[in-house]
Amino acid sequence: MFCSTCGSLLMPQKTEFGTWNSCPNGHSQPELNQERKILISKNQDRGKHIEVMGGENILAVHDHKCPKCGYDKAELREMSCSYSDEDNTYLMKCGKCGFVEKLEGKTK
Ligand SMILES: [Zn+2]
Ligand SMILES: [Zn+2]
Repeated sequence: MFCSTCGSLLMPQKTEFGTWNSCPNGHSQPELNQERKILISKNQDRGKHIEVMGGENILAVHDHKCPKCGYDKAELREMSCSYSDEDNTYLMKCGKCGFVEKLEGKTK
């Protein structure tokens, strides 16, 4: 590979975006550099997508800190007690890890 401007032999150069051949006289090689940047941006988009899809519970809207993982939103669930006269039991289900905690007392 030779410089498209002055014809010098290109040398490998390390940058924050990766390693590619560049001119020792500092001439940029636009075609080479562009190709490398497109590949990097594609990889970054894929990483973001995985993060967004990570087990989010849309019902977890109540402020409740999970004792297991520390997530501060939980889904409120009501369990009716058909076998007694007691009030219904309320459960908080963590929106992240799914840990279920029984609430003490009443939530009314
Ligand atoms: Zn050059
Ligand atoms: Zn949790």
